[in-house]
Amino acid sequence: MTSATAHPYAPDLSMKPLVSLGGISKVFSNGTTALQNMNLDIRQGEFVSLLGPSGCGKSTVLRIIAGLGEPTTGAVEWPTSDHDASGKALPEISFVFQEPTLMPWATVFNNVWLPLRLKGISKAAARDQVLEALAMVGLDKFSEAYPRELSGGMKMRVSIARALVTRPKILLMDEPFAALDEITRFKLNNDLLHLWEQFGWTVIFVTHSVFESVYLSSRIVVMAARPGRVVNDMPVEAPYPRDDAFRTSAIYNDYCREASAALHAAMEANDHL
Ligand code: ADP
Ligand code: MG
Repeated sequence: MTSATAHPYAPDLSMKPLVSLGGISKVFSNGTTALQNMNLDIRQGEFVSLLGPSGCGKSTVLRIIAGLGEPTTGAVEWPTSDHDASGKALPEISFVFQEPTLMPWATVFNNVWLPLRLKGISKAAARDQVLEALAMVGLDKFSEAYPRELSGGMKMRVSIARALVTRPKILLMDEPFAALDEITRFKLNNDLLHLWEQFGWTVIFVTHSVFESVYLSSRIVVMAARPGRVVNDMPVEAPYPRDDAFRTSAIYNDYCREASAALHAAMEANDHL
C-alpha cells in the first residue's frame, strides 16, 4: 500500500497554500468574540491538527473553512481550487462531525449514499462508489445493517465513509473520535493515517487531545481562547508511516511534552479570566 519512502511531513513552502485564512475574526450576534485575527495557511497534503481547550474557536474555524459560517472580518482564500462564475471557490471538501449523525431509519448503504443522492445520483449508479467508500473503512460487509446494530466505532466509520463517498481532496474532522473508547480510537487513528498516506488528502483535524494530535499530525496548530487565536504552530517531524511502535518512541514522547507545554501555556494565558 505505502512505499518504503516516508510520507513527506514537511510541506513545500514554495507551493501556494491550499487554503489561506487572513485576519479572520468571528463575533456572534450575542457579542461573543469566538475568533480574533486568525491567520493560517495550510498546504496540500498536510495533516494539521487544531489543538486547544474547549471554547477556543476550533469548531468555528472549521465551519468557516467549510463555508458553513461566514467570518465577521477577514477572508478565506483557496488559491489552487476551481472557482465558479461568481468567484466562489469550489474546494472538494468533506466534513466529519463528532457525532456520527446517521439516519437511524436508513441502512448503512443508504446513509453513505446520501451525499450522492443529494447530487441526483441514483442508488444503482452510486452503488460502486458507496461500496468502495465502505470498503475503505472496512465495512463493506455491513451495507445492509442499520445504525442501531453497530458499535460506536462502526458508526463513526460509516460517518467517515459518507464523507469519503464524494472522493474529496480535503477532509475536515471535528473531534471525530472524542466519544470513543481508547482502543477503538487508536484503531481509527491508524486506519485514518493509512488512508491519508494512500490517498494524499489534506486533513484538518480538531482535537483537544495532545496524544492524538502528535500521533496523527504533520503539524499542530495550538489555539487559545477568549478570544480564539493561534498561539503556537509546531511541525511534528516524525516520519510516516507511523504505527503503534511510534506511540512508545522517544520522539513521540518529546513531541507530546512540547505540545502539552504549549497547550498549558495557551490555557494559562486565560487564567485571569
Ligand atoms: P471549540 O470548538 O474550540 O470548543 P467553538 O468554536 O465551538 O469552540 O466556540 C468558540 C466560542 O464561540 C465559545 O465561547 C462558544 O460559546 C461561542 N460560540 C460558538 N458558536 C456560537 C453561536 N452560534 N452563537 C454564540 N456563541 C457561539
Ligand atoms: Mg468544538
